Amino acid sequence: MSPIPQIALTDGHRIPQLGYGVFKIPPEQTERAVTQALELGYRHIDTAAVYGNESGVGRAIAASGLAREELFVTTKLWNDRHDGDDPDTAVAQSLERLGLDRVDLYLVHWPTPAADNYVHAWEKLIGIRDRGLATSIGVSNFLPGHLQRLLDETAVVPAVDQIELHPAHQQPEVTAFCAAHGIRIEAWGPLGQGKYDLLELPEVTGPAAELGRTPAQVVLRWHLQHGHIVFPKSVHPERLRENLDLFGFELSDAQVAAIDALDRPGGAGRVGPDPTVLA
Ligand code: NDP
Repeated sequence: MSPIPQIALTDGHRIPQLGYGVFKIPPEQTERAVTQALELGYRHIDTAAVYGNESGVGRAIAASGLAREELFVTTKLWNDRHDGDDPDTAVAQSLERLGLDRVDLYLVHWPTPAADNYVHAWEKLIGIRDRGLATSIGVSNFLPGHLQRLLDETAVVPAVDQIELHPAHQQPEVTAFCAAHGIRIEAWGPLGQGKYDLLELPEVTGPAAELGRTPAQVVLRWHLQHGHIVFPKSVHPERLRENLDLFGFELSDAQVAAIDALDRPGGAGRVGPDPTVLA
C-alpha cells in the first residue's frame, strides 16, 4: 500500500492526511479498535476529552511499541473548560489519560459563541503550545467570524479548522477563509456519519463501479483530492482496511465535479450541531 501523504501545516509541522477517528467508540472497545487500526497501518488518531475514550487510545499506543515520532495524536478541549486556567488542567488530564507528555495537535472543540470565551481558550492553547504540551494547535467548528476574531485579537493562526464536511455540507465560506489564511481543513463526518444516503447516490456509486472501488472509498478519495485531512471512523476491520486503501486510484475532474455538485447550501445538508448555537 502506498504511504499516507503528509500535509504541511503553516506552523512548520506536518500531519498525515489520513487517520482514524474514535468518536462514539465505547471506552471499553477503544483499546482494541485503536490497536487494530495501528496494526493495519494507521498512524494518526483523532480523539477528544468528551469522547470519554482517551484512556483506551493511550493503552493502545503504549501496547503498540511504536516510536512516539511515528504517531500523530489529536485531542480536544471541551466546551465547559474554556475559562480561567481550566484549559491547563484539561490538557494535563488528557495527557495523563493518553499516557503522553505532548499531543501533536490540540483543538478548541467548539466556539460556543454565546459564552464568548473562545478567544480566551485560544490564548490558553497558545500557552500550552509554547510549553511544549501540544506541538500544533487549532480549532474545530469555527466559522469565518470566529476565526477572524482569533486573528485580530491574538495574531496566532490556527494550524487547522476541523469542521463538518462531506458532499452534502461542504461549507465553501469556511474553506475559502481557511485557504486564504493557510488554515488546513480537517473534515469530520467525512462519510456524513452514515446519516444520509451518500453511499447510494449515483454520483458516488457510478465512479465506484467504474473504478472497481467501494462508494466509501470514492467519497474519501474526493476529500483527499480536495486536500482535506480525514479520519473516518469504523469498528469493522474490513472497513478500516478499505478506508486506508485510497492511494492506488484517482477520480477524474468530472467525477470530482459531480460530487461537488451535491452540496446543499445554507446548512441544509448538515448532520451535526450548528456551531452558532451549540453551547
Ligand atoms: P464518519 O463520517 O467517519 O462516519 C462513520 C460512520 O460510517 C460509522 O457509522 C461507520 O460505521 C460508517 N463507515 C465507516 N467506514 C465505512 C465504510 N467503508 N463503508 C460504509 N460505512 C462506513 O463520521 P464520524 O463522526 O465518526 O467522523 C470521523 C471522525 O471525526 C470522528 O470519529 C471524530 O474523530 C471526528 N469528529 C469530530 C467532531 C468535532 O466536532 N470536531 C464531530 C464528529 C466527529 P461502522 O463503525 O459500523 O463501520
